[in-house]
Amino acid sequence: MEHIILVRYGEIHLKGLNRPFFERKLIEGIHNALSGFGAKVRREQGRIYVLGVSDDRVEEACDNLTRVFGVHSVSPAAAVEKDWNVIVETAARMVEAETQGDKMTFKVFSRRADKRFPMTSEDINHELGHELLVRFPNLSVDVRTPELKVCVEIRDKAFLYVREIMGAGGMPTGTAGRAALLISGGIDSPVAGYLMAKRGLELSAVHFYSYPYTSERARDKVIDLARLVSRYAGPIRLHLVPFTDIQLAIYEQCPPKETTILMRRLMMRIAEMIAEKDGALALITGEALGQVASQTLESLCVTDDAVHMPVFRPLIGFDKEDIVAIAKRINTFETSILPYEDCCTVFVPQHPVTKPEVKKLRESEALVDFSEMIEKAIAATELIEVS
Ligand code: ATP
Ligand code: MG
Repeated sequence: MEHIILVRYGEIHLKGLNRPFFERKLIEGIHNALSGFGAKVRREQGRIYVLGVSDDRVEEACDNLTRVFGVHSVSPAAAVEKDWNVIVETAARMVEAETQGDKMTFKVFSRRADKRFPMTSEDINHELGHELLVRFPNLSVDVRTPELKVCVEIRDKAFLYVREIMGAGGMPTGTAGRAALLISGGIDSPVAGYLMAKRGLELSAVHFYSYPYTSERARDKVIDLARLVSRYAGPIRLHLVPFTDIQLAIYEQCPPKETTILMRRLMMRIAEMIAEKDGALALITGEALGQVASQTLESLCVTDDAVHMPVFRPLIGFDKEDIVAIAKRINTFETSILPYEDCCTVFVPQHPVTKPEVKKLRESEALVDFSEMIEKAIAATELIEVS
């Protein structure tokens, strides 16, 4: 018996002529997720088979595969010779391991791709169901909603499996181009990056820090968050931009009510310049409508006015609760809530404008000549490749 992993993919099936491109990218993602496993990857009839993973690492390999975008689900399976007795014995061993004597309902699902196999899929369902019922008094049949699905596929070998583990879904990384994520140390931006990467984008990330008002630990936290997102999104080019001079200039020379929104405009502008150099075509933020003063509709218009690139805000219609649920699922939440200061929180005004006007904000911004400060910030930006 050989251990293999079946990988199913979802939305790629909808693709027409460029489907091979999506499949190639998916296989690339699978190879990356399984580097060091000695795995061989084979594609056949809308399925991917992973072979050669050693017994004791199958669970770990499945876990890695469920984080690959484009993967709908995975099943650890046994590949055995197409001999009826071997099929029955293998199915029985799997059922034993899965039920451990507990009462359970089940159903056999079979598919006969190799038509030379003497039994039809109906025969297999019926005969194997019967064999299992005889051997396991704890089993009963439920054809509608079985707790246990015993699946048999007759191909070049017989594949048997009882588990289907859901994958991350989405589109394979690198099929949608590159965008730059504005990443803070908060809960929202890592989730925003995850959601856009899920649609196939490769990520650059831009973080603004304000030494000495923000600490080394706040910076490390952002690197950690980028690393957690990269477990799904693949390698991330993280740019760390010193922002203190600009922030102090805003703080000292612009109307106090407008400092946050001005800061947001400058962040966007610098992020856009970095994104361009990185070959990114859009920006991503973790903003949600109405969450804070800088995320009212008027504020978002003022922020967008500072840049030309499209700004993706995948969380725009999300409640905080929904965002937290995703953050917990992708494992960024615990890191995000570590209590280190962010450069936004250090300089928040007491009464920020909630309905800023584009014209007025352009005027306020013109009070200071930021061009040299922006150049200096970009020149001092540090690049870390996170993976
Ligand atoms: P988050 O939870 O992601 O920190 P937030 O609710 O704290 O978001 P804001 O602080 O208003 O909201 O920031 C809104 C968005 O602006 C963030 O989601 C992020 O995309 C970007 N942003 C905020 N601070 C920074 C920063 N220091 N560096 C880079 N981007 C930032
Ligand atoms: Mg924040």
